[in-house]
Amino acid sequence: MKSNNTLMPPSFTRTLRLKVRSEAYAWLNAAAMEVNEAFNYCNETSYKAATRTDLKRKWLTGFDLCSLTAGASQYFEKIGADTIQSVCNHYAQKRQAAKKLKLKWRVSRDARRSLGWIPFKAASLKRKGRGVRFAGKCMRVFERERLEGVKWQGGCFAQDAVGDWWLCLPVKVQAECTIAPQEEVGIDLGIKSIAVTSDGDRLEAGRWTRRYAEKLASAQRRGHKRQAKLIHRKIARCRADALHVFSRKMVAKYQKIVVGDVSSLKLVKTRMAKSVLDSGWGTLKRFLAYKCEYAARSFEVTNERYTTVTCSDCGALSGPRGVNGLIVRFWVCSDCGELHDRDVNAARNTLIGSRCRTSVSGNESSYSLIRPSNAYRVREAGLESARTAA
Ligand SMILES: [Zn+2]
Repeated sequence: MKSNNTLMPPSFTRTLRLKVRSEAYAWLNAAAMEVNEAFNYCNETSYKAATRTDLKRKWLTGFDLCSLTAGASQYFEKIGADTIQSVCNHYAQKRQAAKKLKLKWRVSRDARRSLGWIPFKAASLKRKGRGVRFAGKCMRVFERERLEGVKWQGGCFAQDAVGDWWLCLPVKVQAECTIAPQEEVGIDLGIKSIAVTSDGDRLEAGRWTRRYAEKLASAQRRGHKRQAKLIHRKIARCRADALHVFSRKMVAKYQKIVVGDVSSLKLVKTRMAKSVLDSGWGTLKRFLAYKCEYAARSFEVTNERYTTVTCSDCGALSGPRGVNGLIVRFWVCSDCGELHDRDVNAARNTLIGSRCRTSVSGNESSYSLIRPSNAYRVREAGLESARTAA
């Protein structure tokens, strides 16, 4: 089957993030303070305009703020007119969305300092030599080669909690038009393994956190705030990386991806809260959703009721139940005698659930049941002989 070449694939916006080299930090910190002044000016002016008691009371728009700040750039040392206009427009949008008379002030000093932010328009950031040029300042960025051939419509410099600066550029990406080698997969989200697929692939949980937990605790005990922030960032990156790798793999392999809709909010209230917050189910679903969209795959979230207690082979409700059932990793169906891995079985049921569009409660006709794939059977047979030998 040949795809229609006359149709352009849809495009999406993704943010390109490049770390700025530290020699420009002092300049960026100073520029961020000027941005804060411009932002706070917008905040004060629009509050005053909206609370006037005479007939001149007005809800200022981005356009109004831009004309009020016209010519202000001569009072600033670092930032130019385009950054001031970006601040005005951003402020007006944010205030409109929040439906408030006033937003929070941006703080430039002491402990409550806002994380630095410097927006700009497309034309004021240029490629220059081995780096970029912004508002008369040349700075170098890491991984500059990622800017090759990229067209941007604007963007910002943003600071993270550690104090490092990042150049963020929203860029348009074209969707890929590929067809995955395999048809479909069900994914069960859990705590011991973050995700288990109906083919038996696993994403194990918590390794990155435990590795850094001890370091983090000791940094916090000794009051090393910067070090603690660095470790937090490291943990977040490791987690995101593992989730990106896993979701990338799923999208490359399968045409249709189905995930059970675990509600993390419900589990957060239980004693499993730490593992739940740690596992990043929400992030994984988000990654899968957007990667599926780019690659033209279908992505579905289904009701996960009964997925653990139903036998994916014969449909009997013979699986482990309740809180004690959580420690059962393997079980044998009392109806058909099939040996099940708890999570793989749940993932298969998730897939079945998406096919018949009802909850998997054991009354489906047999065509919707999934036989375990051969690869999985062979692996399980190996595991089983290892268990009996031990
Ligand atoms: Zn069975």
